[in-house]
Amino acid sequence: MLCPKCANEKTFVIKTLKGLKNIRMRKCGTCGYSWMTEEKPLKDQELIEYAEYIEQIEGKK
Ligand SMILES: [Zn+2]
Repeated sequence: MLCPKCANEKTFVIKTLKGLKNIRMRKCGTCGYSWMTEEKPLKDQELIEYAEYIEQIEGKK
């Protein structure tokens, strides 16, 4: 995941809280900014939109 502050790719997970959704604490290796992300199952409609989004991206290559 890109750092939301400086958009650098070199970020790492400090801690993961597991459950029905996973909360991850992440930290940027470049600017030191830390933030939380939430990982959860996508709903059906979101899955469809996601699949269409991936197709769009791959169609542009
Ligand atoms: Zn950063």
